Amino acid sequence: MIYKKGDPADPANFRPITLQPVWYKIFASAFASSLYDFLLDNKYIDKNQQKGFWRGIDGVTEHTEMLSHVLRTAKREQRCITVALLDLKNAFGEVHHELIATALKHHHAPLEYVELFKSTYKDNFVVVAIDKKTTQPIRVERGVLQGDPSSPLLFNLCFNTLMLTLDQPIYRKLGFSWGSKQNRQQRAWLQFADDAAITAADNASAQALLNVFQAWCAWAAMTVRLDKCVSFGMQKRNGIYVQTMPNIAVNGGQIPPVPLGEQFTYLGRSFGFDLKNDSAKLALETKLSELLKITNELKVKAQTKLKILSQYIHSQIMFEIKLYDFPTTWVEQKLDALCIRHMRVWLEMPVSACVGEISSLPKKMGGLGISSIKSLAQKLCLTKRYALRASASSDVREIWTDTASQHVVTDQLIVSHDSLTAATKALALDQQQKAANHLFGLQLQGALAKSLSESVSGKNIELWVTTLNNISPRLFNFARKAFLQVLPTAANLKRWGRAQDPSCPLCASGQPQTNKHVLSNCSCATALHRYTARHNSVLSLLIAWLRSSLSTGQLLYADLAEGNVLPVCDLFLNCRPDLAIAGLDSIYVLELTICHETNMIRSRDYKKNKYNDIAQHGSTLAGNRRIVCHSIEISTLGFISNISDFTKAAQIAIMPDDLKRSIVKTVVNSSFNIYCNRNNSALDTA
Ligand SMILES: [Zn+2]
Repeated sequence: MIYKKGDPADPANFRPITLQPVWYKIFASAFASSLYDFLLDNKYIDKNQQKGFWRGIDGVTEHTEMLSHVLRTAKREQRCITVALLDLKNAFGEVHHELIATALKHHHAPLEYVELFKSTYKDNFVVVAIDKKTTQPIRVERGVLQGDPSSPLLFNLCFNTLMLTLDQPIYRKLGFSWGSKQNRQQRAWLQFADDAAITAADNASAQALLNVFQAWCAWAAMTVRLDKCVSFGMQKRNGIYVQTMPNIAVNGGQIPPVPLGEQFTYLGRSFGFDLKNDSAKLALETKLSELLKITNELKVKAQTKLKILSQYIHSQIMFEIKLYDFPTTWVEQKLDALCIRHMRVWLEMPVSACVGEISSLPKKMGGLGISSIKSLAQKLCLTKRYALRASASSDVREIWTDTASQHVVTDQLIVSHDSLTAATKALALDQQQKAANHLFGLQLQGALAKSLSESVSGKNIELWVTTLNNISPRLFNFARKAFLQVLPTAANLKRWGRAQDPSCPLCASGQPQTNKHVLSNCSCATALHRYTARHNSVLSLLIAWLRSSLSTGQLLYADLAEGNVLPVCDLFLNCRPDLAIAGLDSIYVLELTICHETNMIRSRDYKKNKYNDIAQHGSTLAGNRRIVCHSIEISTLGFISNISDFTKAAQIAIMPDDLKRSIVKTVVNSSFNIYCNRNNSALDTA
């Protein structure tokens, strides 16, 4: 029993879902599937008015768009319209088995189907389990079981008898008319499973349709729940277009009209006279705000909160985003702004930091890879527009044409691509490009991301992002701030008007204490000592890796006075490269540099130049072996350059991701300590 809403003590407020044996589910699926094909091949079913449960139809979108479009048209053209929503008492549970059998025969289903259905429900019992007790078996005398794969089709089939009646021209013409002069459309009835909505030209037309419904309910032994039905109207009175309270009835009772100024809900979307969706906007804003607040209060690390936002919170608001056409500017200024405000707190970013830009930047470019709600809304709008254009119903396709002027960009994407997948891909690419352009265009905050996009592979940047997601929040926030160059260094404090002197107190060179200066450019002896320690901690990781990767005949030399490694000065005179793998005929040198993100290419060129003539520096031991020089640049935040040239030449396996992750962690940790000691000239004791 799944709780719906209302008093939890009332069993009627629960939806019963039946658990059935797997073999039966397979059988019922096959039964429904072949029956469906039969009905479809013979064109016996209506998919124009009934849009619930049919394969490949986004019925909620089609119907809510239709209702919205019809109401908008009525208002724009100041014409009379009467809407009625109809509710049946426990439709699934009440439908008579006789009715289903009759409906099967009515649709000319082969006798086998009728017999199979009858024998399925003959002597059919359900048992309800509560705690550890079970009820006596209860005979299923009426209704289709929810959870049974064949139920939706059997249910729709019963309703199809009503749909076929309503599809006759004499009833269709009672519907509200709209569309261009050349392509006039009329729509009287919307059905989604048992949820029905009438859209009639006036009260009399609505009443005529209601009379058909009433007669069908009597024949099908369905009970109308009058108090759950609702009516709504709009028309011009005394020259003014106003909301009305239609006087229409079913079974002698008036359908409760929507009070003036209030709303009604069809398939989860609310509609009212102003058609501005103000209450839906407010409700969504409140919902998002609540979800963010709960997340904010959780005792989890920043990275987890960001994950909750992108993996959970987004999914919780997508239904509303898809259902309503909220204006993009509203989504951006309200919903995205709300998310950004929280993300800023979680990341401990200063007000000037471009949180929105860095969060929507793709991971392969160093961003957080969290889509903005605006981007998600654009994607959903694309899906929706595509569904309208591809609809099997001609009037739904007409909505697409009729509203094209409001969706020029989206529609252009759709018509210029072969499939929805291709169009979605193009949109995603465009969104990524825009996010990148925006951030890269920022001189200070975008400098690192821009430079890295030119010097480090997307794969290695993404590895950096995912590694950061699993480190301590302190290091994560440090690295994220450093990436945008918004750490409170003296130069930044001066820029923010919070300090007088922007210069580095360590080297007293008069140079501003920027991100780059602190992490890689300070000339103070203590700073240099720290840089060397950082360099050597990475070097020892590389040594451990290379040592385990050597093949027979290869020897590893390194410039590090630790562990049992051969000294590189045995191979070279007058120069000491960091690493060398010596084979039978060749010596492959690997030179390591830890440099600032904006210096990756310059460092590589510098090293290339420096070791240009290394072949002349070989020792007697090096003999006449060929000497080839390669370099690896690792940035102060742990971005790693591509060294496949080296591994390929030396014939060793490519650098494993585990090693890359260790390097990221080691470097971020070292740089964090360097940063923390940026004003401390005393040598580290540890
Ligand atoms: Zn300095």
